[in-house]
Amino acid sequence: MSKEITARSEDYSKWYNDLVLKGGLADYSAVRGCMVIKPYGFALWEGMRDVLDSKFKETGHQNAYFPLFIPKSFLSKEAAHVEGFAKECAVVTHYRLMNDPNGGGIVVDPEARLEEELIVRPTSETIIWNTYKDWIQSYRDLPLLINQWANVVRWEMRTRLFLRTAEFLWQEGHTAHATAEEAIAETRQMLEVYADFAENYMALPVIKGVKSPAERFAGAIDTYCIEALMQDGKALQAGTSHFLGQNFAKAFDVQFSNKENKLEYVWATSWGVSTRLVGALVMAHSDDDGLILPPRIAPIQVVIVPIYKGADQKAALDEKVMEIVKALKAAGIRVKYDDNDNSRPGWKFAEYEMKGVPVRIAIGARDLENKAVEVARRDTKEKSSLPLDGLAASIQSLLEEIQQSMYNKAKTYQQEHITPANSFEEFEKLLDEKGGFIAAHWDGTAETEEQIKERTKATIRCIPLNNPQEEGVCILSGKPSKERVLFARAY
Ligand code: AMP
Repeated sequence: MSKEITARSEDYSKWYNDLVLKGGLADYSAVRGCMVIKPYGFALWEGMRDVLDSKFKETGHQNAYFPLFIPKSFLSKEAAHVEGFAKECAVVTHYRLMNDPNGGGIVVDPEARLEEELIVRPTSETIIWNTYKDWIQSYRDLPLLINQWANVVRWEMRTRLFLRTAEFLWQEGHTAHATAEEAIAETRQMLEVYADFAENYMALPVIKGVKSPAERFAGAIDTYCIEALMQDGKALQAGTSHFLGQNFAKAFDVQFSNKENKLEYVWATSWGVSTRLVGALVMAHSDDDGLILPPRIAPIQVVIVPIYKGADQKAALDEKVMEIVKALKAAGIRVKYDDNDNSRPGWKFAEYEMKGVPVRIAIGARDLENKAVEVARRDTKEKSSLPLDGLAASIQSLLEEIQQSMYNKAKTYQQEHITPANSFEEFEKLLDEKGGFIAAHWDGTAETEEQIKERTKATIRCIPLNNPQEEGVCILSGKPSKERVLFARAY
């Protein structure tokens, strides 16, 4: 093996960091909590972004861009919102540096204090709703369906590459509607878009649900989410979609005249997924030899490695490989021919395993004679010989098979890790020994939720959509409960 990776069983966190760093996805940076996304990691994000972006457009949204800075007074206008975000804001106070007259080097110019401090956006509801005030006057201006691709800053204390960083890339949808029903339908629609993306592109099964009040987005009436399970049994919030009611319309006085010419406050939603999804992909599928990427998202789907001695053999291979590359590209497959002379095939095999390329084709002089190539799939490590004749079609169906089999494997794991608990003792034992989601009765109070969190580090991940109703008693307080909710330790 060319690069040492810590085994999952030894130290799961270290394994994850090894994969991100050695797989060439990201690096730590000079700024605490902020990462450098390297070309391979960025290609992965771009691939996700492209699919999501087209899904947003198919559902009628348009992209726009709003400022990075938010005047402090804007953030304060919605009480719950500022309360939720105040603890993690980066604040701009000055706009100029100067040479310290006392020889202290470059310092902030005390004369250049901003009249009003600016917050580096942690999310953009406030600046956007302040703008919507000018954009929305009548029912004819609605619905307003906007998305923004941007970076945001949340001063997180405990960070982890991709999963939780102080600055992250994301998209944030912000929509405005004439009625509550329409806004709720939008919130649910975008949750479905996220779930579809996670399951059908990332091969990542998710549970769709609604958050408990304590876990809601600051300023929302309801927060819907998709929750995924990682291989160590911890949950990860993979996307959120919020029904914001009229909270932001009231805070920024955004009213429209309805068909009866009466003024009403506008209804809002917001929804987002972030570069956290790259981390989810790594944690959900990969193994001790490196990344395993689902074909639909993999920046390189097929790598071709030539095996030869001398220039003559190489020239003969090149000619054949060019034909194969052309056929694969014509079939819409992202293929790379690695004929770099400076590294040996064995090194390349390990490198592409590390990078999670779904299919590797090795081709040598004998293969040309036999009119077949050796094909290895990354997810199961199985090798087979495929005829050159019709290769593009067989690779295409192999990629589909890998995609499906990665999803099935993750789905089986998820299903095996949703376990009911009927007492607090059982709940604790399951958390420690098995992990995953634990379905338990809860009395519906924030106090009980907080106590459970303090004692076990498990939080309510969600109340699943279409949750079966079942009479029972809360595992902690013994008070009556009408349904089970899903708890887990989470990232
Ligand atoms: P929110 O605005 O809090 O609903 O978050 C929107 C999306 O961003 C969710 O899918 C979160 O999982 C993700 N997210 C929140 N905080 C971070 C962070 N510090 N780093 C990366 N992703 C984040």
